[in-house]
Amino acid sequence: MQVDTQEIEAPRLGEPYLLTPGPLTTSYAVKEAMLRDWGSWDDDFRAMTRKMRDDLLALLGDAKGDYDCVPIQGSGSYCVEALLGSFVPKDGKVLVLANGAYGLRAAQTMEYLGREYHLVNKGDYLPPRGAEVAEVLAADPAISHVLIIHCETSSGILNPVEELADAAHAAGCKVLIDSMSAFGAIELDAARVKYTAMVSSANKCIEGVPGFGFVIARTAEIEAAKGNSHSLSLDVHAQWATMQKTGQWRFTPPTHVVAAFVKALEGHAAEGGVAGRGARYTRNRDVMVGGMRELGFETLLADRWLSPIIVTFFCPADPKFDFTQFYENMKAKGFIIYPGKLTVVDSFRVGCIGQMDEAVMRRVVDAARDSLAEMGVASAAPPEAALDERKKLAA
Ligand SMILES: *Cc1c(COP(=O)(O)O)cnc(C)c1O
Repeated sequence: MQVDTQEIEAPRLGEPYLLTPGPLTTSYAVKEAMLRDWGSWDDDFRAMTRKMRDDLLALLGDAKGDYDCVPIQGSGSYCVEALLGSFVPKDGKVLVLANGAYGLRAAQTMEYLGREYHLVNKGDYLPPRGAEVAEVLAADPAISHVLIIHCETSSGILNPVEELADAAHAAGCKVLIDSMSAFGAIELDAARVKYTAMVSSANKCIEGVPGFGFVIARTAEIEAAKGNSHSLSLDVHAQWATMQKTGQWRFTPPTHVVAAFVKALEGHAAEGGVAGRGARYTRNRDVMVGGMRELGFETLLADRWLSPIIVTFFCPADPKFDFTQFYENMKAKGFIIYPGKLTVVDSFRVGCIGQMDEAVMRRVVDAARDSLAEMGVASAAPPEAALDERKKLAA
């Protein structure tokens, strides 16, 4: 399929590129789609909502007949809360697999819900593995659901979803997936993984603007979720039932955001869908990581675990390096980077998603080289402590 390279020339408005995992740099066409007002009850907007749900389901391929799509107002975390509150019965128990901030936020959500959970916390970035999931599930038969983070955006690690889902299913548990930062760019084969439900949001790999997220769940599971939710506004079953009946959202929908998202889905299809988008992001990552390594930077993760979504780099050991200054220097060159989230050593992150291609990523590396030079940093090599930290991954 033809890739419209014009679209990749964003941002046209003189804004910096957002090398962040959402909000991210969107195409001009996506921004332009927001220049019109829509009546939320009107047929035209209802048709738009229907098309959006159908287009998202189409990304599931052969399994799409078993699933339905329910958009939910709010940011991604609202959808995670809707997911947990709607699909886990009040007497259910969730195994939360955490290796970063988003897994821990899901556990915190379970606290708020007042429902049972067991947290496996792997720290900043170590992947949970199938064998330990099997062990935990064998020891605790009360666990009914397993929550898997697909790409843990805080380190950028791509967790082994299939292995984890297999372990959950083998123990008779249902699988819930936070695919927020992966859906649309990384294959998640519903015919193979057979998850109960997953969530993502408008402003990640589909490249829309923030304002809503969506749950994709087995239709039978949505029907069975009636009465589970703790929350009126985050009740997936109620939102779905209303949409099935009237074609409308319950409560005010983010109309402009939906219009922008439908435009973003067109761009996604034109690029070749999940495979095409994933290929561009992978190329973005490879070019950017290759260039950064030439400057002496080291990634937190070994290549095997590096997602094409966002990459964590250790801050250089050179005492002249100062992250705040580096950030400002990069911003002055047109690139917004992202602080790190590791607790042990200093780090920063560079996102690969949004309207950017490898030519942009080469400019990112040039900007990093110039920014280091401006600070008088000779080498971007990390401190020993960082490399010790990384050895844990290999162990
Ligand atoms: C972005 C993201 C979320 C949701 O974050 P919000 O700030 O609420 O949009 C949840 N999980 C993961 C893995 C994410 O990347």
